[in-house]
Formats: sequence, structure tokens, C-alpha cells
Amino acid sequence: MIAASTIRVSFPEADIALLTFDMPDKAVNILTTPVMNELAVHLEELEQRDDLTGLVLSSGKPGSFIAGADIREFAESLDVDKASIVAMCERGQRLFRRLAQAPFVTVAAIDGICVGGAAELAVWCDRRIVSTSEETEIGFPEVKLGLYPGWGGTVRTPRMIGLSNAIEIITGGESVNASAAVGLGLASQMASPEQLLDAAIAMIREEQGTGDYLVDRTAWEQPIVISETELGFLGSTATAYIREQTKGHYPAPLAALELMLESASMEVDAACQREAEGMTQLFGSPINEALINVFFLHARNKKVVGTSGDSIQASPIRSVSVVGAGIMGSGIAAATIKRELPLVFTDASAEVLQNGAREVMRQVSYNRKTKSSDATRAVHFAPFMNLTHSREELTAADVVIEAVVENADVKRQVLTQLESGLSDHAVLASNTSTIPISSLGEALQRPDRFCGIHFFNPVRQMKLVEVIRGQETSEETIATAVSYVKRVGKSPIVINDGPGFLVNRLLLPYMLEAVELLCEGASVKEIDRAARAFGMPMGPIALYDVVGLDTACYAGSTMYQAFPDRIIASPVLPALVKSGRLGQKSGAGFFRYSKGKRRGQEDPGLQEVLEPYLREKRRFSEEELQQRMFLPMVLEATRILEEGIVRDVRDVDLGLILGLGFPAFKGGLLFWADRVGTPALLEQLKTLEPLGERIRPTPRLLDMGRRNARFYDSASVA
Ligand code: NAD
Repeated sequence: MIAASTIRVSFPEADIALLTFDMPDKAVNILTTPVMNELAVHLEELEQRDDLTGLVLSSGKPGSFIAGADIREFAESLDVDKASIVAMCERGQRLFRRLAQAPFVTVAAIDGICVGGAAELAVWCDRRIVSTSEETEIGFPEVKLGLYPGWGGTVRTPRMIGLSNAIEIITGGESVNASAAVGLGLASQMASPEQLLDAAIAMIREEQGTGDYLVDRTAWEQPIVISETELGFLGSTATAYIREQTKGHYPAPLAALELMLESASMEVDAACQREAEGMTQLFGSPINEALINVFFLHARNKKVVGTSGDSIQASPIRSVSVVGAGIMGSGIAAATIKRELPLVFTDASAEVLQNGAREVMRQVSYNRKTKSSDATRAVHFAPFMNLTHSREELTAADVVIEAVVENADVKRQVLTQLESGLSDHAVLASNTSTIPISSLGEALQRPDRFCGIHFFNPVRQMKLVEVIRGQETSEETIATAVSYVKRVGKSPIVINDGPGFLVNRLLLPYMLEAVELLCEGASVKEIDRAARAFGMPMGPIALYDVVGLDTACYAGSTMYQAFPDRIIASPVLPALVKSGRLGQKSGAGFFRYSKGKRRGQEDPGLQEVLEPYLREKRRFSEEELQQRMFLPMVLEATRILEEGIVRDVRDVDLGLILGLGFPAFKGGLLFWADRVGTPALLEQLKTLEPLGERIRPTPRLLDMGRRNARFYDSASVA
């Protein structure tokens, strides 16, 4: 079946054909099978004509070219056989290759996103011209899905831009902007979006005149000219770099590298065949499946509005106030200004406010490209910040966030003062990490417009924001909070109020179990190694030192008060704090830190502090250590679901990936648990029975085990 209306054919000049991708009723174009079929039909027709000088491929969606292949189709065909995977690649290769063999010059006119399959389509064209729009990006993110480009991307790109450049862009998976694309040779020219078509036509005329494109066509069909020595050097440096980056958890970048090194000496036909055959190792693999799940977790999150009813609307957000200019307040302020939202900023201390404002300016003026402070950015963003102590100015904002000290009395006082001056539609929020939102709301006249907006530290790096619904919080408040969080470029997860909210509640059982393991004789090294082997970015022991032992102690005690039956009030953390070991910030925690170094060394002095608490000295396998740390997390997740803290298992998984760095290649905590299977999880828990309440299977898990049910059974397709 051909979806006839996706690609429009027109002739801006008598000898120039224009194919405009414009998927009906969609915000972006995607290369679905019907669209690919439609392209084939159009090419077939155009190739028959002898009056054409050139073909331009473009998009009917301003600022968005084509967002790649249809990942949903991938997800639906993960279990196809190897022959079908090869055939899927070959179909795309054959179709796109026609653009490099057509009886006219082919040019991709790219305005906006052009990634994955779309980048492959573009590289098979004779030339690419990119718009100067900030939205323009070209890239091959396939490795982030556990794949590599399979429609000839690994064949054509290195022949066009050089093997080294192609290896970097394909194995790294990061997109480049328009000027970088020109620098790399991925595109030959830039033009404003308005002039893109005219420039593409001019380019066709020039190519027809010089015949350069024909020279390139011949050259790009050949093996790559590179010496054995160069190839060897490139291979060994790239392999070492990829191993370091992926820690052996993500096979696709290495597979892409090996493929490109091997097929460099082949002609295009053989290289394409090798690309298609190699794909059978990746497509449908458990890691591919897990990463596709993560892709959908993000896609679903983009659509989150925070409420179930369509009738609930977010209020307009014209300005934001942040009260408290400490670590978090400054981070939130900077994130707000970066999105050009006017900010009113205050702190009880004038000195702290000045320091906070300096920190905000430091963050907003940082230029990622030059990796240095940028005066133009500073001049641009400075007018968005208003430093004040005036309550009227603070309460005139549409969203008012308090980020003052973590003290319930102080917070209540600050919130009640702010509330009295707010306009009717304004939202009042707290960034508290431990105090229940409903209890803070009790002090307010209008708890319905109060909620938690919990940013993570450091705000500039952490994408996750928990939006917490107190008992009285209205749907409008949640919708407005979600809209604000999205506006500042973060990923909101809406949760109901409860101790530790979502991420800290799941983190604590894992962290506390690590201390128990220490008391049973496991070493700090073994524990952290097991967590890293599971895929965590750092082990729990190192994480204690980063967070600070005093903060961890405080968080542990709040959780203990909430759940004394299963949270262990270990004496180890207070003992460390008492001995002055606060973690990185004091130069010693579980590890020792040399001045200015963030990486800890093993500390022989630790044993002395631990000695009184060592209950036994037994050996653990890596598997047992992992079960001990991650099963309590799964159990706590079942309680979170049971209590309705989150609406959907996918919120748990995305929350942990974004908030804790839970390994994406496992697809998320509950995606991973599903893969292990509930009956197998229950078996493992049985062996840990002597540990008591904290490891006892919850009724929900027992019920799921009896039915052999999966957590994702309740998640509809994204
Ligand atoms: P901080 O100590 O760095 O900053 C708190 C600021 O509040 C100080 O500058 C203080 O002068 C100011 N302040 C105190 N009383 C005030 C008042 N009455 N009016 C105005 N300002 C007042 O603390 P922080 O780490 O930025 O934490 C702030 C909030 O964010 C806390 O609720 C904390 O739990 C939460 N939080 C912290 C982190 C983190 O890792 N630091 C992470 C998430 C959430």
C-alpha cells in the first residue's frame, strides 16, 4: 500500500524535480515502509525522464527535514529471522543507492533534523546543502539503539568524508550542526532556510557544468585509499577509545568500527553486503530491544502533560521566581534564564544572592562549543535576571519556586509569606528533597496551587525533575509545573507524594544494602565493581562519598522513620560522619581523596572505623552482590506501584535512568526485571530469605509470579 500523500512531486523549474516529504498529520517526517515505497515509485518515474537536470529532496515541514527510520516498525520486527534482517537492509541500500546513480544530479536540501535513515538518504545523494537554522543537525544515532546505519550509511559516509571522520560520527552517535557538517564534508554549502531551494538548484546547475559529481560518483564506488599502517593505527586508537566509553556494555559502536575497517578495502557492492550481514548480530539482540525501550520511554515523556484529562490546561508562564540562591536555587535560576524566561531571584542573605547571581551568569554564559565563557551570551542573558528582596516582585511571577534550606519550619514560613501576594493562577512550588509536599501544603490557604518541583543536583546536567502532587494539588497546578519543567528543557515525571518521592526512595534500599554487605565482609572494591559490572556509572560506595555521608545519613533516617520495618538504621554511616569522614568534600569518606582529585583511593584507615560493625567475613560472588543490591530496588518499585506513587511502570524506568544513571542497555529497572522474569526473581529472593523483611517478596510480586506476569504488561505501547 502506498501512502500517496507523503511525498509531493513538483517542478520548480522545467528541468528540476523536487520531492517534498510532508507526512500528513505528523509533526515530523519519518521513513516508514510506505514512505520508502512511495520514494521508490517516484524515483522510478523520474529516472525514466530524459529532460531532467536535477532532483532536490526537501521537507514540507519548516525546520525539520526527516527524523529517520520508523523505530516502531523496528520494535515490531525484533524477532524476525536473519534473512529478513539482511533483506531489510538491502531494500534500503538499493533504494537510496539509486540517488547516486540517477541520470541527473541529486541534492538533499536539509533544513532541520536529518538523522539515522534520513542521514543515509542524504549521504547517498550527490550533494547536500544545509540550512543555517539552529535546528539543523545531521547524525547517525543508530548506536544509541544498539545498531549501526544499515542502509549503506557505513559504506557511503567513509568514502565521502574519510574513514576517520566517519568512524567518529557513526560510532559516537552524536549529531553535528550545519557548520560542523560543512566542515566535515557531510554537506558542501549552507544557505538560509528561505534560500535553500534556490541554492540547491544553483548547485545542480554548477555540478552539471563542471561534472564534478560524476568524478565523485566513480570515486565513492571504490575501496577507500588508506595505507595498512594508517588503518592499523586508526583501528587501535578507535577501539581503545570505544572500549573506554562503552565499558564493554554497548556492542554496536565496536561492531560499526570493525565493519568500517574491514569494508574499507571493498567495493561498494561487497561493503553493502557486509553491512547487511553484520546487522544480524545486532538487530533484535537483547541490548537492541532494551535501547528501543529507552527510546520509547523518552518519546512518551515528551508527550507527558501531567494530567489525564485533555480539558486541563497549563497556565501561561511569563516569569518565574526562585527563592534561595544556594546550590539548587542558582542551578534552577540558570536553567530558567537559559530558556529566556524572565527570572526574579532572591535569598535571605544579600551576599549569598550576589554569589548566586554570579554562579547563574557563569552557567548561562558558558559556550559549549568553545568550552569557555562567552561575553555575547552574558550580555544576552543578563537582562532576564532581576535580583530583588521585594516580595511584590517575587509574587508577581507565574511560577514561584522555593529552594531554601531543608528545614520544614523555614520552608513553611517562606511559603506562607509568598502565598499571600500570588495571583490566582500562579503556581507555588518547593524543591525539597525529603519533606512531604502535603505536609508543607497544610500551612497554605490554597494548597491546590502548591506542588513539588524537585530538580536534581547538578541542575545543569540532570535532565530529571520530579513533579510531586500533594494531596490537595490541583490538576491545573500539575499541568503548569510540567509545562515549566519542559520549557526549561528537562524531563518531568509526575508522581504522587510519598517519602523519598520516586528516585530517592528506590535509591535508598540499594545504598543501605551496600553498607550491609560491607558489614558481612564484602570489600568496598568488590561492591562497587559488582554495581559497575551491572552497568551503574559508579558503585554505591563511591556514590556515598559524592553525595556526602552526612546527607546520606539524613536521607537514611527520613526513610527509616517512614519505613522502620524494612529500612535498616545502620550505625556505620553515623560512625563515619562522627569520625569526620563526610566524603569527597572532607577529603575522606569510604575512600580517601588527594587534594583536588575526585577519584578516591582505597583507605587503610577505613577498616578501623568499620571494625566494630563487622558481623562476619564471608566471600560473595558478583552475582550475589548484584542480587543483594538490585532486588531490594525492584521490591521497593513494586510498593511504589502498589501505592500509586507513579501511574506507569515506565515512569519508574525513565526516572532511574535519568536520575541514577541506571544502565540504559538494560532498558530500565522493571524492563530488566521482566527479562529476568518474576518467577526467577522470586527464586532468587528465596535464597535471601534469612535477611528478613527488607528482602521479603511483596504481595504484588508474589501475585505476578503466580501469573508469570510482567511489569510491562500494564504499559500500553508508547
Ligand atoms: P543551600 O544551603 O545551598 O541553599 C539554601 C539557601 O537558602 C541559602 O543560600 C540560604 O541563604 C537560603 N535561605 C535560607 N532561608 C531563607 C529564607 N527564609 N529566604 C530566602 N532564602 C533563604 O541548599 P541547597 O543545596 O541549594 O538546597 C536547597 C533545597 O533544595 C533544599 O530543600 C534541598 O533539600 C533541596 N535539594 C538539594 C539538593 C542537593 O543536592 N543540594 C538536591 C535536590 C534538592
